[in-house]
Amino acid sequence: MARLSDPITILKGIGPTKAKQFAELNIFTLGDLICHFPRTYEDRTRLLPIDKMEVDVPACFRAMVMNTPRTAHIRKGLDLTRVQVADHSARLTLTFFNNKYAAEQLQYGKEYIFYGTLTGDFVGYSMTNPIFESPDSLPVATRRVLPIYPLTAGLNNNTMLKAVRQALELCDPPAEILPEAVRREYDILSADRAYYAIHEPANMAEAELAKKRLVFEEFFVFSAGLALMRAARAEKKTAAYRDTEMQPFYDALPFRLTGAQQRAIGDMIADVSSGKPMNRLVQGDVGSGKTMVAAAAAYLAARNGHQSALMAPTEILAEQHYQSLSKLFAPLGIRTALLTGSMTPKQKREIREKITNHEIDLAVGTHALLSDATQFADLGLVIADEQHRFGVAQRSKLSAKGDDPHLLVMSATPIPRTLALLMYGDLEVSIINELPPGRKAVDTFLVGESYRPRINAFIRKQVQEGHQCFVVCPAIEENEDLGIKAASVWAETLQKTVFPDLRIMLIHGQMKGAEKEAAMAAFARGEADVLVATTVIEVGVDVPNATLMVIEDADRFGLSQLHQLRGRVGRGGHQSYCILTTHNHNPDTVARLKALCKTTDGFRIAEEDLKMRGPGDFFGARQSGLPAFRVANLSMDLQLLKDAQAASAAWINTEGTSDTPEAIALRQRIGTLFQRAEGTMN
Ligand code: ADP
Ligand code: MG
Repeated sequence: MARLSDPITILKGIGPTKAKQFAELNIFTLGDLICHFPRTYEDRTRLLPIDKMEVDVPACFRAMVMNTPRTAHIRKGLDLTRVQVADHSARLTLTFFNNKYAAEQLQYGKEYIFYGTLTGDFVGYSMTNPIFESPDSLPVATRRVLPIYPLTAGLNNNTMLKAVRQALELCDPPAEILPEAVRREYDILSADRAYYAIHEPANMAEAELAKKRLVFEEFFVFSAGLALMRAARAEKKTAAYRDTEMQPFYDALPFRLTGAQQRAIGDMIADVSSGKPMNRLVQGDVGSGKTMVAAAAAYLAARNGHQSALMAPTEILAEQHYQSLSKLFAPLGIRTALLTGSMTPKQKREIREKITNHEIDLAVGTHALLSDATQFADLGLVIADEQHRFGVAQRSKLSAKGDDPHLLVMSATPIPRTLALLMYGDLEVSIINELPPGRKAVDTFLVGESYRPRINAFIRKQVQEGHQCFVVCPAIEENEDLGIKAASVWAETLQKTVFPDLRIMLIHGQMKGAEKEAAMAAFARGEADVLVATTVIEVGVDVPNATLMVIEDADRFGLSQLHQLRGRVGRGGHQSYCILTTHNHNPDTVARLKALCKTTDGFRIAEEDLKMRGPGDFFGARQSGLPAFRVANLSMDLQLLKDAQAASAAWINTEGTSDTPEAIALRQRIGTLFQRAEGTMN
């Protein structure tokens, strides 16, 4: 008996070369192999007499070879092999193109199992390139539900299939982690059946059942992990803030807080005076004023003698936060500093020294702020901005920086509740569902290509009035097939042929981080009139002077993403506009985009988006802080997710600390999941 942790090289047919190919797929051990699940299946279970086969419906049949295969060389690169086969019901001519293997293997007088698709009409039936194997061998490619695996160069499905089969023969599948009661309640296969059936299902229905089990398992482990984290935190204690006098802070603000801001601040105050570490997510649309909640928290921390760290995802955002917060805090006697990667080593050293000596109350920076080099005297509060870039695992790392500091995260991505539970299942949530007064909604229009001259004229008009414009394209490089606008090409076109007299700038995701930030900062300083960009401008940079955003081929984006992009304008006092262009006349697409023109409610847009596109697209691959599920598909398996969440919550209450083999195995799995997540989330 082998073990799950044994290397795959113990298998027949896997030497060092093959092992390298498997490694490309992150498969090193038998366990990895068993957890390498098919991405789909081909149902090859039907075995019929030839005369019962239907045209165009693939099936298996057992037949005898009636002559010696004859190969004709038609022309260079085209060899044609023909062979007659028959069963008790009919005869059939098989044709193979460039198939030496068939020509050599098929032997006169022998029987084979074939799998192929019948074509033809009243003139006669035929079949090209069927798959075949001996009826005496174990079914590999016929008479079964064939799993189709994710592969990589050099590895074919057959090799994968045989390797998995050997692994399943040699060792027991991963241990059962789902309590029996849960399996019964939700009609879930046991682990040993499911891990076997996902690779070797007897029929398609069994494949579905196996998949359901594994999806449920993934959700269950993840939710249970979050619940355990939550429970562990409930045990933690931290000194409650005694001084919660906010009036001086309110007095220092140049505006009155909105009701929603006040409520969120109220939640925050309750957290920090509870004696337990705060873990709060503040969610609100772009421009809703989340920073003020963070500022209020930093203010209280300072009043109570603790330091705060505010992390932003980019240097330019960090700088903007530093500018506004240091101005607000200086008169209140709160010492703010900026710490970013692009500072000179000397500057960094000086700032770090001050942080260590508690001469700084609030340190603003990128997440380099939390590198080992930065030591706080007394870190009481960590604030993360635009938090969808930080995963669960990273959050726990942050907490280790201080002595269980309070944690406040801000996100501008409105997230439907189901997803919020997945991403932030361990956080309390405050929602800011109100914009500061006087904010004008961004006027949004959907237009076709015939409006091009008017769009151009409108861009010019905005610039003449002293404003700036964003033009967002779905791609960087031209792609003939898709016919979509590419930022680099479009920037050049605009500069050369449309606006030779305007200053056009380009920014895209393939530029280096520093380059990108420099470009963005230059645009924010007004050094260009038009910024042509890919979606890299999505995250929170403030350019109050930008009043127009043109989004080319808007149908290429998700609604939530469009909504985020649109939030880049309308940040100053001027009326702002968003123009969506599309070549797509599909009524659904048009309806979807029109919905965006009508509403500015991020949560409603997010719900719509989730319904239509599913969460993978919803966040865009780039910024997803979602755990990488192997089998689960969040758009399709939402009900299972809810079930697994309910089941895991119940499990934590009754069995969270029990010593059943399932409970022990489950806790182990949770441990590996969150460890693995650590490396992949950033
Ligand atoms: P976001 O939620 O996108 O982070 P910010 O905190 O950056 O929003 O706030 C957007 C702008 O609105 C900032 O310029 C901020 O000073 C301003 N602001 C925040 N709260 C209010 C308010 N209650 N009244 C007026 N302006 C506000
Ligand atoms: Mg913000």
